[in-house]
Amino acid sequence: MQVMIVGGGLVGAAAAVAARQAGYPVTLLERGRSPLAGDAEPGWDLRISSVHQNNVEWLKQLGIWARVDETKYLAYEGLSVTSRDGQCVDFHAAEVNQPQLGVMVENNALLRAMWSWLSEQSQVDLRADTQVQSFDLAARKLVLQDGDTLPYDLLLGADGGNSAVARAAAIGMRGWDYDMRCLLAIVETEKALAPATWEVFREQGPYALLPLGEQLACLIDYRAEASWRAVTTEQVEQALRETFIPHIGAFKLHKQASFPLRRQRALRYHDERGVALIGDAAHSIHPLAGQGVNLGFIDVQVLLTKLAEQPLSQALRAYERQQMRVNQQMMRAMDAIHWGFRSEHLLPRAAIAVGLGAVAQIKPLKQQIIKAAMGWNMGWKK
Ligand SMILES: Cc1cc2nc3c(=O)[nH]c(=O)nc-3n(C[C@H](O)[C@H](O)[C@H](O)COP(=O)(O)OP(=O)(O)OC[C@H]3O[C@@H](n4cnc5c(N)ncnc54)[C@H](O)[C@@H]3O)c2cc1C
Repeated sequence: MQVMIVGGGLVGAAAAVAARQAGYPVTLLERGRSPLAGDAEPGWDLRISSVHQNNVEWLKQLGIWARVDETKYLAYEGLSVTSRDGQCVDFHAAEVNQPQLGVMVENNALLRAMWSWLSEQSQVDLRADTQVQSFDLAARKLVLQDGDTLPYDLLLGADGGNSAVARAAAIGMRGWDYDMRCLLAIVETEKALAPATWEVFREQGPYALLPLGEQLACLIDYRAEASWRAVTTEQVEQALRETFIPHIGAFKLHKQASFPLRRQRALRYHDERGVALIGDAAHSIHPLAGQGVNLGFIDVQVLLTKLAEQPLSQALRAYERQQMRVNQQMMRAMDAIHWGFRSEHLLPRAAIAVGLGAVAQIKPLKQQIIKAAMGWNMGWKK
């Protein structure tokens, strides 16, 4: 079965690796530059993912993790959340007898590891700087702008939030803008940092820290769209200092940028003509709990499991049935947290505050939450 993947981002590249290892010939089409073009940047890029331990184990099994540049990831052991009412709950891997909850990894470093593996394989056609001109879903082939016609049996849309594959298959989307921006900043701190991530909720949106090294971190600050629009670097630096110095002391800003937040979901994850959507093409989620790539990696794992168990069309239906439910649950949970913590109404805030208080007291509940953060609750294994 020839697998055609449109989109060579984290989820598409992971799908290519996993599909090839499952024995399928694979073509991966990416319209952007190859992640292998040029040398890796020396410092950390702003696009960083918190990958939970379950997915780290999967990447290890695929032989990808060993290829990731060691200076571009950091294992983290703890996670803490503070509500708007000042209630704080800490989670630690040791509470479930594990050494770490997951890793912070630079997206580019993980992409380079996957693409370098793919570039060494037979029966992998890896094409960057490539545009699809047209899809013929009925005939299961696509035509590239350079005129090449490529046939396939299974077409995976891993082409992100504005998926051309979804449009070709007339798969509708539902979504909205949160009217918020997420500011990311790489900073070097004077004091040493614990290998732990934390998030604090406040009226205008949460702020958080992802540890990247002993004195290196990614600061995240969510605010209304207008607050981060048309601001100078000095203004950003000033706002970050006011927010973060009480938590981490003095720091030097290396780089910063902000991204709009959008939620979107595909109304179907598959089409009977041998098409499936994976990753952000199927679901773009609020990055609040760092779940986007994690859900995409689980999409890949579930899809390949279904393909190994049953004929193609049944496998695609089974994949959609399972992943749509799981991903929507996660999206609703993110919305509940987003609106609940931001809500002016006492009720949702109180419910979440009481929830945090209860979580801190009840050990088995806390252990379940830690396991969920490590990706052990994804409903299909463990
Ligand atoms: C601020 C922020 C922070 C985040 N933090 C985390 C985190 O900590 N943990 C986490 O799990 N997730 C996080 N996410 C979410 C995560 O970044 C996304 O879920 C993830 O990148 C989606 O990967 P993807 O491969 O599905 O899509 P994308 O990354 O969008 O990749 C799609 C690829 O397809 C290519 N493409 C598009 N159209 C075509 C076409 N027509 N032909 C060929 N190629 C095409 C694009 O060039 C791109 O390379 C965060 C997101 C944001 C915005």
